Amino acid sequence: MEDFVYTGLATRVIFGTGTLKQLADEAKRLGMSRPLVLSTPHQRSEAERVAGLIGPQAAVFSGAVMHTPVEVTMEAMKVAAEAGADGVIAIGGGSTTGLSKAIALRTDLPQLIVPTTYAGSEMTPILGQTENGSKTTLRDNRVLPETVIYDVSLTSGLPVGLSAVSGLNAIAHAVEALYARDRNPVTDLMAEDGIRALARALPRIGRDGLDVEARSDALYGAWLCGISLGCVGMALHHKLCHTLGGMFDLPHAETHSVILPYVMRYNMQAAPDAAQKVARALRADNAATGLRNLAQEIGAPLSLAQIGMPAEGIGTAAIEATSNPYWNPAPVTEPAIRALLTDAFDGVWPD
Ligand code: NAD
Repeated sequence: MEDFVYTGLATRVIFGTGTLKQLADEAKRLGMSRPLVLSTPHQRSEAERVAGLIGPQAAVFSGAVMHTPVEVTMEAMKVAAEAGADGVIAIGGGSTTGLSKAIALRTDLPQLIVPTTYAGSEMTPILGQTENGSKTTLRDNRVLPETVIYDVSLTSGLPVGLSAVSGLNAIAHAVEALYARDRNPVTDLMAEDGIRALARALPRIGRDGLDVEARSDALYGAWLCGISLGCVGMALHHKLCHTLGGMFDLPHAETHSVILPYVMRYNMQAAPDAAQKVARALRADNAATGLRNLAQEIGAPLSLAQIGMPAEGIGTAAIEATSNPYWNPAPVTEPAIRALLTDAFDGVWPD
């Protein structure tokens, strides 16, 4: 056994089906009596349902959007102050959780998160925010949510296409955790089992979005992948996705879905133990091909062209992604990244 350091992140987790009914008790446990409930405009009715579980004193702000723009955070904080909010409850995906974290960073209010996608942000002390068109990411324990309620029944309405890309987004966290410099035996266990649970569940969800057992496995896997992301540093895959998302405003989970098999292929020789664990979790002979086959099987996009990246952006993206790279098991060079992006742009995969 190699020496290691493990820092556990202290979040209370309630996992199950129908667990939303415990929300009022969990809010009380955090000392919340007048929370602000957050959602995207699309999930306003869910936010109202959650507020209804607390009572008329709960306020609702349904303006959460992608990339956590600071102006939206300021607007939500104004609503929180007017309502005298003593806590924040978020129901939704990574965008809504991001808004909750941005408020907690500035106010230290307690957070209760009810995730409805597989993005995993609820398990991390990481926050990405945008201001004047540029995105910055920070790690701060103030943004780590105090309580998370995973209710499987809230994910059955997640459209099948979104479930596929969101699930691959989660798997990407675990893949990078398996070759992270600061990985440890505990994160290895969680990451591998997270991939295993999602790889088992996503094809079933593709066939039947109402398959409760598969939905439960997928949410469990997403939880494990989220912890992995929160505990260790990320590498080339996350760097490329942040670069492409920021430069071309590409959709978050879809970008992860396309890039992941290519980065796995890029890192496979330099990280053979991680590749072996990924392959084992996927029940595949080869980690990279296994990820590509999973993406194909569940109908996820397979090329950057398909999700709106301009062809002329490949060169500048390669420069940007390699100018200030994250640590990565394989050396990161501009020509090699340009070649990776060219293949990913066209969706080319060698036999
Ligand atoms: P999202 O939160 O933007 O959700 C996408 C859309 O799906 C929204 O309109 C949302 O309302 C809707 N939706 C969510 N759940 C639904 C459900 N069950 N049924 C129907 N519709 C539903 O997307 P996301 O992929 O969850 O999150 C992406 C964002 O999260 C990005 O900004 C990303 O940077 C961030 N993120 C942050 C971390 C972190 O640790 N800080 C981790 C992962 C993702």
